[in-house]
Amino acid sequence: MPALNNTTLYRGRFAPSPSGALHLGSLVAAVGSYVDAKANNGTWLLRIEDLDPPREVAGAADSILRCLEAHGLHWDEEVSYQSQHHQYYQQSLQRLRELQLTYACDCSRKLIQQQGGHYRGYCRHRQVTAKQSSIRFFNHQPVVEFDDEHYGHIQADRAFAEEDFILRRKDGFYAYHLAMVTDDIRQGVTHVVRGADLLQPSACQLSLYRALAASPPYYLHLPVVVSQPGRKLSKQNHAPALNNDCASVNLTRVLTLLNHAVPAELNGADCASILHWAVGNWSRAKLPASYEVLIPKAENS
Ligand SMILES: [Zn+2]
Repeated sequence: MPALNNTTLYRGRFAPSPSGALHLGSLVAAVGSYVDAKANNGTWLLRIEDLDPPREVAGAADSILRCLEAHGLHWDEEVSYQSQHHQYYQQSLQRLRELQLTYACDCSRKLIQQQGGHYRGYCRHRQVTAKQSSIRFFNHQPVVEFDDEHYGHIQADRAFAEEDFILRRKDGFYAYHLAMVTDDIRQGVTHVVRGADLLQPSACQLSLYRALAASPPYYLHLPVVVSQPGRKLSKQNHAPALNNDCASVNLTRVLTLLNHAVPAELNGADCASILHWAVGNWSRAKLPASYEVLIPKAENS
């Protein structure tokens, strides 16, 4: 990536889904995206990905906002809520339809499992007219490799990258890749910094950028926090919610996990001072080379 200077546009974002409170793993993505943006004189946006009402938890979006504020992570511009932007996802879908890059599919999950778990374009030429059908992306020119600003050149898992993924679900909700890419384009996002669990899906998102003839962002993926190898901290794994009363300790832990240990003289400092230090000392080259970082045992509670 070219060295950034003061005139290079940088618009980054943090985009949590409100399916629960933030935990230490999500704080890594929040802090990493914030500090990388600020270290490059960038703008840092907050987008709530509330696209999937059945999976949302009442009050979670507000709790995420309060948690970020408690940690000194103040976003620029207005918070964007995906639930308020369906018209843009519809426009993207319409554009893809005009390009003949969509088709209806009524395959059940069970059928796809029987075919090996990856969708092989079974309905591409079937002219499905069932009311209960999803809309898939005709992924005929898939992106199968790309560069990550941290992990370098990535060869995507082809079975995954070449799939005709869903754009709009059977239940009528817009799917994750379509909404995310539409928003990142609409909001002028130039840099996507997030957890390495989203490294493979980047290939699908890049295929959408290509289809929509939009310039893709730079990707910078960060190691995922695990409680034991392969076991990501997540809401599903009952990772404890962050305690806002320990915000500066939480920031220090996250920065240590990212190989940016805060110097001893900042022990007990407030969040603003810790973040100020992190922005001034941020180095992508210092990020852990691994895809996972393990939280120390004593902290697994
Ligand atoms: Zn199908």
